[in-house]
Amino acid sequence: MPRVVVIGSANVDLTVRLERLPHMGETVSGGEFYSSFGGKGANQAVAAHKAGADVRFLAKVGCDHNGEAIVEHLESLGLTSAGILRDESRHSGVALIMVDRTGNNAIAVASGSNWNLTEGEIRRGESHISWGQVLLTQLEIPLPTVKQALRLAKARGLVTVLNPAPAHFLPEEVLSLVDILTPNETEAGSLTGIDVGTVDEAARAAGKLLESGVAQVIVTLGKEGCCWVREDRAQSFPSFPVVAVDSTAAGDAFNGALACAVAEGRSMEEAIRFGNAAGAIAVTRRGAQDSLPTRDEIIDLLERSQR
Ligand code: ADP
Repeated sequence: MPRVVVIGSANVDLTVRLERLPHMGETVSGGEFYSSFGGKGANQAVAAHKAGADVRFLAKVGCDHNGEAIVEHLESLGLTSAGILRDESRHSGVALIMVDRTGNNAIAVASGSNWNLTEGEIRRGESHISWGQVLLTQLEIPLPTVKQALRLAKARGLVTVLNPAPAHFLPEEVLSLVDILTPNETEAGSLTGIDVGTVDEAARAAGKLLESGVAQVIVTLGKEGCCWVREDRAQSFPSFPVVAVDSTAAGDAFNGALACAVAEGRSMEEAIRFGNAAGAIAVTRRGAQDSLPTRDEIIDLLERSQR
């Protein structure tokens, strides 16, 4: 089985669906509540697992009810919790989400223990990293922690994948440790100062990132698919035509599936198509982790599109 190490955040998302979002200082009643599991790290770990990888997820949760719930949830999906640390001093990551009738939202995040995952803890978790073939990480944990993870993974010969989300400035010393950088258009824009809306603009932004030392860049462009750039070549990959109902976790589905396919030793072209298919399926369903596709579903879409 392909072996993917994911290092990143795990949250509990608490959502209230309302007729309209409250104004400052106002209370709007009549909402519907649901809670779900989120955090880009956990989402991508689940995405890679469902796509067919053996996954080790390194993360930090609080010693609280939410932390217990996150661990139980991941185990119930068949992931090991061996790499999940407990934080005695901070609560588990929480996102408070309000969504209105038309899908507009307002989100407040308290990173809690995610922001307390340290470089030293990554060093102590080195055996988990050495075990992997691909390392996949994001920016919902401290940047020095991300850097340490990338450095150790490079030294152990893993392929490093950084999904630079949420958008954040990245110094060259971090970018030069990345084999595959996967910004969406907003993130590619913030990293380079280039406004990215088209494939050509994505290729230009990616070119700038290559100059900073990244080996390859894949800019994901929602329903426009994605653009893969390395050295002097840019290649665009169309998305799979689907009826989109909720774009939440499209990028997480893409990244988890891509990492799985790279760990399997597939070519980059195949891995990108595998990621695109996963992203396309995720947007046909509501929710984050609930919308992530299984390996069979991804393969089925790939086969149907070739007929
Ligand atoms: P993010 O969620 O990080 O913003 P994107 O929206 O770029 O990421 O989506 C990631 C990938 O998911 C895209 O590259 C594409 O392959 C797929 N995808 C996203 N939206 C759609 C859509 N409406 N139709 C088909 N595929 C989509």
